[in-house]
Amino acid sequence: MSLGITWTTDWITESARVVAEHRVELVTLDRAIGDGDHGENLDRGYTAVMAKLGDLPPDSVPGDALKLVATTLISTVGGASGPLLGTAYLKAAGAVGKEPELDGDALVALLTAARDGIVLRGKAESGDKTMIDAWTPAVEAAAAANAEGKSEAEILDAAATAAEAGAVATEPLVARKGRASYLGERAIGHRDPGAQSSSLIIRAAADAAKGA
Ligand code: ADP
Ligand code: MG
Repeated sequence: MSLGITWTTDWITESARVVAEHRVELVTLDRAIGDGDHGENLDRGYTAVMAKLGDLPPDSVPGDALKLVATTLISTVGGASGPLLGTAYLKAAGAVGKEPELDGDALVALLTAARDGIVLRGKAESGDKTMIDAWTPAVEAAAAANAEGKSEAEILDAAATAAEAGAVATEPLVARKGRASYLGERAIGHRDPGAQSSSLIIRAAADAAKGA
């Protein structure tokens, strides 16, 4: 089984739903170590995405949908997370190209390109207490699951579980990038909002695959 445009639009729809559901939680996390807008930023962005998703032509491929998310997030989300996640979706779109169906290798390429896009844009390394601390474990777990010959749904489930653990693991860290880096040791004990939202988005990919 491979994953096509239906999975991709389901993933986007589920991402919008969970971001809205967790808006207050993401705002609360960002209030502790940032400026308190992360949940609003992402909710605004994904709401704008959902308004455009229905305009995708019927013959669209996964890359087309990912590109739509990219341009919409970049143009509607103020704050660091818009350009960062926008670049992630843009690079993910580039990685899958015109492929109508994504197998395990393509999913690993998609996730890797997304992570690399965030690094290209934001220059964060693992352990800097950013969304990268969710994405990099997700990429590694997806690659490992794919190497073991797991199904697409299992690969995404492994990625999501690793991203969730990665988000939790940002709690004891001092931030070295973004607004939280101004806080020094005062950031210790708080989960990074971007790592948390990225774990929600990657879990949404796995949940969309379950239904596929
Ligand atoms: P802002 O910080 O501009 O208010 P948001 O609140 O929407 O933007 O997003 C904050 C999140 O962005 C942080 O929790 C962190 O995960 C992520 N972030 C900030 N700077 C970087 C960076 N240079 N690289 C990767 N992620 C970053
Ligand atoms: Mg913020």
